[in-house]
Amino acid sequence: MAQVWDVAISGGGATGLSLALLLRVLSGGALSVVLIDQSDPALRSGPRTSALAEGPRRMFDRLGVWKKLFEKAQPILKMEISDANLADAVKTALLSFKAGGGSEPLAHMLFHRDLEPQLFAAATDQGVHIVTDALEDIAYSPTSATLRTRAGISIRTRLLVGADGLRSKTRTAARIPVISWPYNRTALVFTIAHEYEHDGLAIQHFLEGGPFAVLPVTGRRSSIVWTEPSAKASELLKMSQAALSAEIDARIGGRFGEIQIEEGPQSFPLVLQLARRFIGRRLALIGDAAHRVHPLAGQGLNIGLRDVATLAELVIERAKLGLDPGAEDLLGEYERRRRFDATTSAAAFDFMHGAYSLSSSPARLAKRIGMGILDRTDGLKSALLGEASGTTGAIPSLFR
Ligand SMILES: Cc1cc2nc3c(=O)[nH]c(=O)nc-3n(C[C@H](O)[C@H](O)[C@H](O)COP(=O)(O)OP(=O)(O)OC[C@H]3O[C@@H](n4cnc5c(N)ncnc54)[C@H](O)[C@@H]3O)c2cc1C
Repeated sequence: MAQVWDVAISGGGATGLSLALLLRVLSGGALSVVLIDQSDPALRSGPRTSALAEGPRRMFDRLGVWKKLFEKAQPILKMEISDANLADAVKTALLSFKAGGGSEPLAHMLFHRDLEPQLFAAATDQGVHIVTDALEDIAYSPTSATLRTRAGISIRTRLLVGADGLRSKTRTAARIPVISWPYNRTALVFTIAHEYEHDGLAIQHFLEGGPFAVLPVTGRRSSIVWTEPSAKASELLKMSQAALSAEIDARIGGRFGEIQIEEGPQSFPLVLQLARRFIGRRLALIGDAAHRVHPLAGQGLNIGLRDVATLAELVIERAKLGLDPGAEDLLGEYERRRRFDATTSAAAFDFMHGAYSLSSSPARLAKRIGMGILDRTDGLKSALLGEASGTTGAIPSLFR
């Protein structure tokens, strides 16, 4: 008889790898876990970064991977938000946040090319079985799902997890429809080197074309996430590195001295996408396969890691009692806990995108007054910070 795996995960991005690792560690190696990815997670490249919030960081600490990740992580100690015009020489901060004295940073910046290989190494150490191939076909029976890869490998599992991103094969194979809303905006991502230290400062300018973020990474370097209407972004992609460098410089306003592009641009068309269901028969969707949000608040991965922690907790609870990890009631509970949170976050970021896209003078004035009030209201600011850090509210216990 062929092996029946407890859990098969399709997709070895940050969410799939974290779930695989978590299930092995929390079950003390009792659950059998196979992870399938069409590309090798040990060989990630490119300038893509994410700001990891405090809740998920604590989860990585418990998993024993944070020590290694910490060497590559840059803490964000301060954040400034402005609503300036591109032409403004000085882009005055309307809203600012600081890490509290002695307490944790606002978040940690990590390149995905550091995060994912580290999670991959830890997952393989913990005995996660890896298949480097594309998932092509899925057949369901009442007790299991049978997967077939492009190379013809067959895998039978009691629970299939779709962690296969925006264009999820597991989601489409289960005929789960999506609500999809293109923003007609594209984010261009770069790494720049600069003359002066950033001192852990993150900046977000809401410019006419969209948010322009300067996010500190290790060394005298920052990650740039520059959003423009997609037509303008296509034009920018045709420009020379020298011309792009001058455009970035104009947006930063000389704040970090001379700059140089180290890598990029890598482009990401922006879309709001929500799966209508996060579960199917013997299937749970996590991360971008379930929800893709606007990156302006830097929360997409953090929301995906909430899915990971929630699903892992439910599977481990049942496994301890010898119960089926793909049972309908478990999947129903997962969806109940995650769909509302992911949907409200997506809606909140969509609202922020809409609000900051308004360019009329009264709308700008209203935004400025609103941000000014928020900036001077400590209670409101710390509530916002708690929410963004993923350490308050209805959070998985692994984030505490
Ligand atoms: C510009 C930008 C900036 C962002 N900044 C932040 C931030 O600061 N903080 C934050 O929290 N989030 C951020 N995000 C969001 C974050 O990057 C994503 O939410 C997160 O990386 C999604 O991870 P995932 O594992 O769900 O999917 P993915 O990273 O897309 O991984 C999917 C994996 O599935 C594999 N796969 C796909 N199809 C198949 C198949 N058929 N068979 C086998 N394997 C398959 C792929 O190879 C891939 O490895 C940002 C996003 C963008 C676009």
